[in-house]
Amino acid sequence: MAHFDIYAALKKHFGFTKFKGLQEEVVKSILNGHNTFVVMPTGGGKSLCYQLPALMQEGTAIVVSPLIALMKNQVDSLRALSSEEGIAHVLNSSLNKTEVKNVKNDIANGVTKLLYVAPESLTKEEYVAFLQTQKISFMAIDEAHCISEWGHDFRPEYRNLKSIIQRIGNDIPIIGLTATATPKVQEDILKNLNMPDANTFKASFNRPNLYYEIRPKTKNVDADVIRFVKQNEGKSGIIYCLSRKRVEQLAQALQVNGIKAVPYHAGLDGKTRVKHQDMFLMEDADVVVATIAFGMGIDKPDVRFVIHNDIPKSIESYYQETGRAGRDGGEGHCLAFYSYKDIEKLEKFMSGKPVAEQEIGHALLQEVVGFAETSISRRKFILHYFGEEFDNETGDGGMMDDNMRYPKKKHEAKDDAKQ
Ligand code: ADP
Ligand code: MG
Repeated sequence: MAHFDIYAALKKHFGFTKFKGLQEEVVKSILNGHNTFVVMPTGGGKSLCYQLPALMQEGTAIVVSPLIALMKNQVDSLRALSSEEGIAHVLNSSLNKTEVKNVKNDIANGVTKLLYVAPESLTKEEYVAFLQTQKISFMAIDEAHCISEWGHDFRPEYRNLKSIIQRIGNDIPIIGLTATATPKVQEDILKNLNMPDANTFKASFNRPNLYYEIRPKTKNVDADVIRFVKQNEGKSGIIYCLSRKRVEQLAQALQVNGIKAVPYHAGLDGKTRVKHQDMFLMEDADVVVATIAFGMGIDKPDVRFVIHNDIPKSIESYYQETGRAGRDGGEGHCLAFYSYKDIEKLEKFMSGKPVAEQEIGHALLQEVVGFAETSISRRKFILHYFGEEFDNETGDGGMMDDNMRYPKKKHEAKDDAKQ
């Protein structure tokens, strides 16, 4: 595929004139029919990596994705970019017979370039039998970390993908994409999809504009949070809490102190959730106090701080959640309150789970303890966790954390946290 064609297609289908990061190399790898593995942080532009080659090739690309909402979103935006309604479809259990027939027709007629399926739908005999008879350009496995028990979102259905892909067609190229790849998860994905030979493209996970800070969590955490928010008056921020109860309590404490804060958690009814989310996006509220239910698909570019009232259960979660700050490249202060008691609490939550899961959960938590208690650069720690070497002297954002900026305070903080 000539260089010129790829750029022309990028312009034609998406209206973009440039690729982001490693996109061009990934697109070429897919167009050449190679198994391909893509590791890019959230917002890196993974979708385009498979959408563009799918639009440029004959046949239909099958895209496996774990969330129906995400699939619908992508299909809608692809349709908006095209004059052809059938260019993209979702195949799932909510379709009636007529709708399924319509999807099948579009695929058979070569109209559909991208077919989104949930992994559990792909196990349906009827669909496998149909897809076997069609021209499939490649299979893209989005959020591929769902394959791994070491990932933050393990889904057993993802485990069977390789055998299903083989049944659909033996030599179909496979593309795995994820934003969460510790070396262990990465290994798991490649092994499970049986593609040790895959062309691997890994973008840096460094977010140089984010400032990382851990403070000991004391009884005065409410006052500490309120003071921080007041010092950042008028700026957008997210405060993550572990429990719904704590979300409500803290949101109220902030409101009482004159801060425009709204709560967000899965226990609120849908209407209230949408309202609070919109208030935050429209800046009628400065702060959203939330459980981890908040964030999936939220793309507010100017979130200036993310506070963790409770330390998350893994470095991946911490990275994802703090990653919602400073998307526009501007200031992003990531402040987490840490107490070893919270680690014990998280350990306790896991005690009802299967032993294998507990062991993994424990190992992930130990990394969090290491991170919270370290006196080395937080950025170096995070990047090392993701298998990336970072040099504070030469690396972008090398001084952007509490340990680097105020090296002495560390021991005090550590002792406090252990009390
Ligand atoms: P990811 O799946 O890696 O989190 P997305 O595929 O959702 O990221 O893309 C994030 C954003 O980047 C989207 O708004 C998308 O339109 C935009 N984007 C992707 N590629 C380009 C590009 N080449 N030029 C400009 N914007 C891009
Ligand atoms: Mg994505």
